[in-house]
Amino acid sequence: MGEGHQYRQELKEIAGSMGAVHFGVASMDGLRDRLLGLTPAAVEGLDRAISMAVRLSRRIMEDIVDGPTRLYFMHYGRVNMLLDETALRISSAIQARGYDALPIPASQIIDWEGQRAHISHKHVARAAGVGWIGRNNLLISPRYGSQIRLVTVLTDMPLTPDGPLDEDCGECDGCLSVCPTGAIREQQEDFDHTACYRLLDQFRRKRNIGQHICGICVKACPGDRQAGKQITAECAEHAEKM
Ligand code: SF4
Ligand code: SF4
Repeated sequence: MGEGHQYRQELKEIAGSMGAVHFGVASMDGLRDRLLGLTPAAVEGLDRAISMAVRLSRRIMEDIVDGPTRLYFMHYGRVNMLLDETALRISSAIQARGYDALPIPASQIIDWEGQRAHISHKHVARAAGVGWIGRNNLLISPRYGSQIRLVTVLTDMPLTPDGPLDEDCGECDGCLSVCPTGAIREQQEDFDHTACYRLLDQFRRKRNIGQHICGICVKACPGDRQAGKQITAECAEHAEKM
């Protein structure tokens, strides 16, 4: 068993003990152009990105009817805090083993116009085999659907990268008709970012939520409990390993 494999097991155990339901590693090769607002010195040599996910409460999502609730707002914030804490614990463990780590906050927007963070957590998660990007433009875990939140730690620790899943939404249309603004389309590439953002902005102001959140299409995508969606054996096996 190589050193990288041992490190991976140690880090995965720490993440699991903090409540993470997914742990994957991506190579930064195809992700460097997704970095934003960090100096070259800060990210030099950080060739791996660790992606971790914490699951949202299914019952809190069930409580959503036509937009974000106060309960979802609180939950969303707490899950982000747990993710940030998990990323800090992982970063400390990496540094204790003599390597560098750069935790990227779960929910910190750097470019408001483009709605971008220091890195796209969902693209890291996709490259790390945590899931795929679904019709609702969110990361879809085979097991938990959209009902997860993500965080990323960049590192130079020699971890073996996972590959992306060979999966997509397939025949599922569970979220297609639920979006009040019609932003979700058959083809993921046609997702209407502007329409989605406008509605999130309305929710933020009118519901006194203070965050750009919605939850309607997240509720509609609960993963392998979802009616009509069959996860493949390969996909289920991969989810089992996480
Ligand atoms: S509900 Fe179905 S179509 Fe929509 S994102 Fe989830 S898996 Fe994809
Ligand atoms: S977050 Fe809300 S507005 Fe955006 S696509 Fe999902 S349901 Fe539509």
